[in-house]
Amino acid sequence: MSDSQVTIIGAGPSGLTLAWWLVEQGISVTVLERETAIPKDMRASTFHPATLDLLTDSGLATALIERGTVVPQWQYLIHQSGERAVFDMKHLSEMTAYPFRLQCEQFQLTELLAEKLAEEPLCELKLGATVQNVIPETSQVTVQYQSAGENKDIVCDWLIAADGASSRVRRSLGLDFDGQIFPKTSITLVLEHPFEDDIPNLLGVNYVWLPDRHYSLMRLRDTWRLTYSPEQDQDIETALSDEVARTHIARVSPRARNTTILNRNYYTLHQRCLERFCHGHILFVGDAAHLNSPAGGMGMNSGIHDARSLADHLVPVLNGEDSALLERYDRRRRTVAREEVQRLSARHYARHRETEASKRVLIWRELQEMINDPVKHRDFLLDAAMIRSRQREKTIE
Ligand SMILES: Cc1cc2nc3c(=O)[nH]c(=O)nc-3n(C[C@H](O)[C@H](O)[C@H](O)COP(=O)(O)OP(=O)(O)OC[C@H]3O[C@@H](n4cnc5c(N)ncnc54)[C@H](O)[C@@H]3O)c2cc1C
Repeated sequence: MSDSQVTIIGAGPSGLTLAWWLVEQGISVTVLERETAIPKDMRASTFHPATLDLLTDSGLATALIERGTVVPQWQYLIHQSGERAVFDMKHLSEMTAYPFRLQCEQFQLTELLAEKLAEEPLCELKLGATVQNVIPETSQVTVQYQSAGENKDIVCDWLIAADGASSRVRRSLGLDFDGQIFPKTSITLVLEHPFEDDIPNLLGVNYVWLPDRHYSLMRLRDTWRLTYSPEQDQDIETALSDEVARTHIARVSPRARNTTILNRNYYTLHQRCLERFCHGHILFVGDAAHLNSPAGGMGMNSGIHDARSLADHLVPVLNGEDSALLERYDRRRRTVAREEVQRLSARHYARHRETEASKRVLIWRELQEMINDPVKHRDFLLDAAMIRSRQREKTIE
């Protein structure tokens, strides 16, 4: 006898959207989360149209839009000259109910989901429960975890690893997580300053080029996020220091130099993927299964797409279909992770961060060609808005 039909480890965007879509279909779920409250995670800020389309039915898309900022156009901006390459999401209006990027912190989604799930008798969300080990058996999995200093066990029919980049489940099973670390790390500051008053034509999402540097400047409801890359050999403490952070802020806008820094975080960027997402009765989603550069804002979105796909495959299995159906979940989402999300985000990374003048000339020419040709413009946005990867997924048998 098992204690739980489905246990999900991790209350991030992948784990909680999956919990929601399972509970909606009558499946009982236990979620184990090591933090004692839903983490105020500052990483993801962009929700793409393909994801908002998935979140429509439950009312989550509307609730998120109320908490975020709608960005119908976004741009590359040459800081000195003010030249721009503006992408306009109206080219997607026939493909999505949401032809815009939504800028909204990822914790807004997880907090909303945690509130909704708290009202669901089929869901038990255990906070402060840190998973230590998982023991797979033929048709069940035992999960060993610690809660309030005590060692506990739970036996489930299916275990979902949604426990993020450093997944304990992945380590427990001794799985390889091959890939690479990107050469440049990233620092994100959350700032109060009204950059829109200083920089003409600023939009909600801006990839800003200075002659020797690149920044991204993203609007949230009441704040702006500025991202920069530290110098090659700079230690983390120096790169995060007030002096260095304020020098970067001032290069984007001298008036903002002394603004309040509400938050600052340092990230190493990886591109990795599991060889398989399904290991018997243990199934992987989100960052636990694959990682990509944050350029283009695709990691969380693709984790939510994994969750939708897994719910669509797991529910029929729980209702009696052959578990071989789950192999299709693996084929679909692993192919998308490697051939769409990793490929596109690596291209965004290279485009945003290029600082060599001659290479920038070529990138700029390519960007201008795309925005001036309606077919190429729409084609580029279908990828960037993650609509094409969802279309491709459905063609994989
Ligand atoms: C700087 C930066 C900016 C980004 N911006 C974007 C963006 O704009 N758009 C986008 O789509 N993506 C973005 N991403 C990526 C995005 O943040 C991640 O892809 C996303 O958080 C993955 O969600 P997840 O639920 O799979 O994992 P996580 O969000 O990492 O959640 C995992 C959860 O598991 C819990 N957990 C871990 N170990 C255990 C354990 N042993 N026991 C119990 N619980 C455990 C953790 O506490 C956490 O709550 C960005 C990433 C970075 C670094």
